[in-house]
Amino acid sequence: MSVPLLDLTLQYSQLKDESDAVWFDVMEHAAYIGGPRVAALEKEVADYVGTEYCVACANGTDALFLILEALGVTRGDEVITTPWTFFATIECITHMGATPVMVDIDPKTYNMDPVALEAAITPKTKAIIPVHIYGQCCDMDAINAIAQKHDLVVIEDACQAMGATYKGKKAGALSRAAAFSFFPTKNLGCGGDGGCLTTDDKELADRCRLIANHGMPEKYIHTDFGTNSRLDALQAGLLSARLTKLDEWNQQRADAAAHYDEELAGVGDLVTPYVDPDGTHIYHLYILKTDKAVQLQEFLGSKSIGSALYYPLSLHEQKCFDLLDGYVKPDLPVAEECANATIAIPCYPGITRAQQDEVIAAVKEFFAADK
Ligand SMILES: *Cc1c(COP(=O)(O)O)cnc(C)c1O
Repeated sequence: MSVPLLDLTLQYSQLKDESDAVWFDVMEHAAYIGGPRVAALEKEVADYVGTEYCVACANGTDALFLILEALGVTRGDEVITTPWTFFATIECITHMGATPVMVDIDPKTYNMDPVALEAAITPKTKAIIPVHIYGQCCDMDAINAIAQKHDLVVIEDACQAMGATYKGKKAGALSRAAAFSFFPTKNLGCGGDGGCLTTDDKELADRCRLIANHGMPEKYIHTDFGTNSRLDALQAGLLSARLTKLDEWNQQRADAAAHYDEELAGVGDLVTPYVDPDGTHIYHLYILKTDKAVQLQEFLGSKSIGSALYYPLSLHEQKCFDLLDGYVKPDLPVAEECANATIAIPCYPGITRAQQDEVIAAVKEFFAADK
């Protein structure tokens, strides 16, 4: 039996009638972009996350960009984040002309290490972007306390963490503003590209909305220079339906994760995910750490079991930084050690016990042969 890393067809089959109705309704009314479906989704997401405002946009990368632009992050500023993330986190900083400062991660959670954060603050530091990697929140109390002490703004990259909680609050409600992605593979994904940002700050929300629509408060009146970053009505309709299932789906991921934890702890040199008692993990990715991750991936592939390395190379070691004037590669031993050592195995809503047991058997077989 083959087991994919992720099976997205279940999200459609479970909501087929609702999804089809959205499609036909959008086509019939030819109201493709923005409109009441998008406004409704914004309200639903804000209510779900627990913020006053949500602004939909074209993707998670843009959500980060809109926030930085609205906050006035610019050339000469430094923005602190980690290299253990998807590239977009860094890219949005360089697009502002600002300098990304990458600090090391906590070896247990793979999230930003607050001690490393504080050590990296300089007079040029303007903002901090903690990334809730794999679906588990960063140590936000520590990060927010440091930010407050140094008068810095915190922006969550919550693209992998819709529904994750920290001390009873949801990811996206733990800082000045947060970015989410609705890319199909995310826990709340749509049928294409999509994203949003959440905040309690009305002025910031309004400004992001303005920038996302060509700096145009009224048709053909431009008070600012912006961009085109909008969400389709079709995507909004799909997302509204899927949001009603999100907690159930995240619970199914957590249940699957618990089964892996039980079966795989102590196998070979595997390290199963650490869950911070301050929050809940939504397992956007179920990550095993092992020195043999590359070989394990190859072995699983030979058994038609999907897996992937998140990430094969830490971002601070990427070639693109040669293009940044004055970039000095930081020494980030934890992130460097995680490169090619953290592997995701199939963990998604609807995965069956039989499929999981197939994965578990294959992993055990690999380590038994490896002895
Ligand atoms: C997916 C992702 C993004 C970017 O989202 P897109 O919608 O693909 O632009 C940014 N940061 C992280 C951590 C992500 O996982």
